[in-house]
Amino acid sequence: MPEFRRYLVNIDSISTHQLFADCLVIGAGIAGLRAAIEAAERCNVIIVCKDTLENSNTWKAQGGIASVLDKADTFELHIADTINTGCGMSDEGVVSFVVRQGPELIEQLLSWGTEFDLIDGRIATTLEGGHSLPRIAHAHGDETGRIIAEALIRKVRQNSNIRIIENFYSIDLLTNDGNECVGIIGYDKHRPHGADQIIWAANTILATGGAGQLYRETTNPEVATGDGIAMAYRAGAILQDMEFMQFHPTTLYIAGASRP
Ligand SMILES: Cc1cc2nc3c(=O)[nH]c(=O)nc-3n(C[C@H](O)[C@H](O)[C@H](O)COP(=O)(O)OP(=O)(O)OC[C@H]3O[C@@H](n4cnc5c(N)ncnc54)[C@H](O)[C@@H]3O)c2cc1C
Repeated sequence: MPEFRRYLVNIDSISTHQLFADCLVIGAGIAGLRAAIEAAERCNVIIVCKDTLENSNTWKAQGGIASVLDKADTFELHIADTINTGCGMSDEGVVSFVVRQGPELIEQLLSWGTEFDLIDGRIATTLEGGHSLPRIAHAHGDETGRIIAEALIRKVRQNSNIRIIENFYSIDLLTNDGNECVGIIGYDKHRPHGADQIIWAANTILATGGAGQLYRETTNPEVATGDGIAMAYRAGAILQDMEFMQFHPTTLYIAGASRP
């Protein structure tokens, strides 16, 4: 975790079209909410999202999270399953890093109020494709995403270092002469006449999710239009792995009906 730069300004004292934050998080899915909680241990945080907190891919996620939770299971086996399923294209360092952190982070979500389904007081696991052992933790059956999001949103709302701005449409990243990101320009639907708003930030975290809405058929919500990817590209960032797009498989085509 890097040390955050700080703005020596009380963000609550600013009432014009400009806000200041030590850390600005764009997006309020699992990535943005979790990043905001971590950053708020070190500095003040503003988190913005394009619609309400409840409108995200995270809210819609169903089956659960894979992790080594069973005594019969090992990190090595989970890593091997993941690399095997990745058909040789996985970054082994990333796979190992993510797999090894899984159990601890699931325990943390549990301690923050995520109601994972339990059996005999232990987290219940199911078997899903690509896994050689049951290791999928789930909550309220197939409502895992909503239950995790609700716990994270409660946690964020309790944190006085975090200010949440819903219905804030981030348009572009602002960069300085040194090509550093110094904030965003966006559009706050709550302001009279929907005026543009600048949020200056010493650190900006992009957590705007995917781009499923680019396709005619998708289970993604309407906020998933790849805005963060486009913003980063326009600001000069190098994009990677753009060819990988997940289509959630538990959907059915019925003409006229929504996909899920
Ligand atoms: C039907 C379905 C089932 C799934 N099931 C599972 C599962 O069982 N297990 C699993 O691991 N994964 C599952 N997934 C995938 C999982 O939901 C996503 O990978 C994950 O939620 C992505 O989280 P995120 O925080 O990156 O993005 P999101 O949750 O999509 O959050 C993106 C956030 O960015 C905000 N945003 C976007 N653009 C802007 C903008 N211009 N300005 C301001 N804010 C913006 C949005 O408002 C939103 O708050 C499923 C997905 C779907 C659709």
